[in-house]
Amino acid sequence: MEILAHTRYTKRLMLLTTTVAVLVTFILLMTYQYVSGLQQLEEELEAQAAILGTNSAAALAFNDQKAAYENLTAIRKTARILGAALYETDGNLFILIDDPESIFPDSINPLELDTPPRPRVDTGLFTRLLRVEVMQAGVRVGSLVLLATYRPLYTNLLIYAVGLVLIGLVALILSRRFTARLRKKMAITEGELEKMALYDRVTGLPNRRFFEYELKKAVNRIQREEENAALLMIDVDDFKKVNDLCGHATGDDVLQMIANRLKQTIRADDVLARIGGDEFAAILFRPGDPENVNAIAGKMIEVISRPFPTEPIPSHVGLSIGMTMMPNDSDDPTTLLRWSDMAMYEAKSQGKNRAQFFSAEINRKIRSDLQIEAGLREAIRTDAPETGLYLAYQPQVCARTRQIVGFEALMRWIPPGGEFVSPAEFIPVAEKSGLIVDIGAWVIRRACQDIAALRQQGINIPKMAINVSPREMTRGNALVENACKTLLHFGECAQRIEFEITENALMAENGADVLTAFRNAGFTLAIDDFGTGYSSLGYLRRFQVGALKIDQQFVHRLPDNSEDAAIVSAVIQMAKALGITVVAEGVETEAQAEFLTAHGCDILQGYLISRPLPLAELVTFIHNHAPGTMESPCD
Ligand code: C2E
Ligand code: MG
Ligand code: MG
Repeated sequence: MEILAHTRYTKRLMLLTTTVAVLVTFILLMTYQYVSGLQQLEEELEAQAAILGTNSAAALAFNDQKAAYENLTAIRKTARILGAALYETDGNLFILIDDPESIFPDSINPLELDTPPRPRVDTGLFTRLLRVEVMQAGVRVGSLVLLATYRPLYTNLLIYAVGLVLIGLVALILSRRFTARLRKKMAITEGELEKMALYDRVTGLPNRRFFEYELKKAVNRIQREEENAALLMIDVDDFKKVNDLCGHATGDDVLQMIANRLKQTIRADDVLARIGGDEFAAILFRPGDPENVNAIAGKMIEVISRPFPTEPIPSHVGLSIGMTMMPNDSDDPTTLLRWSDMAMYEAKSQGKNRAQFFSAEINRKIRSDLQIEAGLREAIRTDAPETGLYLAYQPQVCARTRQIVGFEALMRWIPPGGEFVSPAEFIPVAEKSGLIVDIGAWVIRRACQDIAALRQQGINIPKMAINVSPREMTRGNALVENACKTLLHFGECAQRIEFEITENALMAENGADVLTAFRNAGFTLAIDDFGTGYSSLGYLRRFQVGALKIDQQFVHRLPDNSEDAAIVSAVIQMAKALGITVVAEGVETEAQAEFLTAHGCDILQGYLISRPLPLAELVTFIHNHAPGTMESPCD
């Protein structure tokens, strides 16, 4: 909008300056022409008067009227002098030629030398009388008065002005002709620039800038007309998959198809825009109550859930939609955008492919997430004991002998003055904010420090399992390099460390490279929460996964729940066939332990053995449990 106004303003300014420049040039040229023409004319008149006067001197001196008359007839050869008269020294008329309008006076004042006499009748605008004194041998013998016309000067000026205007017009016509094509091209470019500034190239929809303008307009409109409207923030779930599998060109095609399908779900006067890579936004006018808005959002999700015809395989995506009502939620565009965004993120974290209205609860959760993030950031930065961040260690035991075979390091956080915050709460916040990268580095460092502290007390840990979040995996080799550096710093060996990653992280982008790098560095790998994600046997074998941890949800109802019993025994058999160690998580009862042991599970972890313990309690546990029975792979 501002661009359009600016372009219009620039055009007007250019027209104005050009007009002023042309006018000034015209006035300057005309003035110059007038001044120089007048000067030239007056010089010529003076010269002619001087010649006539000299020629008439003798005739005046000898009172020869005939000779004087003949002399004066010379004026007929010049268009600038219309009439002439000679006066005697006393001022009386001596001879007169060509005075049809009786302009020349009968006498002139002999004393007013070289001063034009007063005409008998008005000479008009273009003519006037000139007077020169006639001298003979240095003595004044009379006066010559001429009736001079300036008409030729003005005629010339007029012709000059007309000529100038004509030349200007011709130049204008020619330049218009010559520049017409250029202007056309410029107009197209201008149009394209305008389009680029306000519309999205791929879908042809308004872009974020235009959308924000439309939202401001919508807010004004609903205030003026006392109606309501809804703002929808629409994020395409897993769009990256389409780009990765089918390429960016196909990704653009899918975006266009998404835009077309979304358009079909809204009214013609509603607004749909693409405001980011895989983000759309819509304003629905007069939608009625929130139920209707929810229904439209549902329709959007439905139309997008149909597969998109792409090569090599059809693409499936979903939508996460955040919704706010105007003016009920707010009538401030910035707040509406922020709240719809929050609702959209909530829809995403609720499992995607759904629509969610903004609510006070979402606001509260986001505030608390921000608080958690700030507290964690500070705790990691200072790394002081009073920040309440530490690692608890949960023992893992051999299912048959119950000897300790390792520990899993689990983060614990009791913020200063606050209550225990579960990692299930703060790890997702850290993942969302990216803080998990620093947290991951802190965990490895702290685990190494604690292993060293235990060694000082004569305890050699056989294995330490450390959790790696999917977001950390995206760091690629840097993650592995950092782990190696820390281990080197503490003189720790890689074989003692087992990294636990989830199935989904295994399947994620560059997951394969990171796993290979981990293995090449000598670390062992375990698949955490097995059964809750998506992974294939092929992957487990390909990455030479060392261990597989059956998720506690399958252990929980053992041994009575036949379905879980079947799943667990099948997983154990499969892992055995691949030569992978099986760890059962969340073992709380002897019955569960017995079932698992009977079906070939290798390692047990759970409250039955011990809860995760702070370092000091861990030492006691180890001493009480089985002193001297631990075997370390590095010793
Ligand atoms: P996880 O890696 O699957 O860890 C096992 C979780 O089960 C732990 O919860 C543990 O306290 C709990 N648990 C162990 N035995 C039992 C049992 O017998 N019964 C029940 N009901 N629960 C049991 P926690 O410590 O709350 O951790 C939750 C999740 O947070 C972990 O699941 C892991 O995904 C994540 N997490 C914890 N520490 C870290 C960390 O240092 N880094 C990363 N990236 N994630 C971590
Ligand atoms: Mg774990
Ligand atoms: Mg687990």
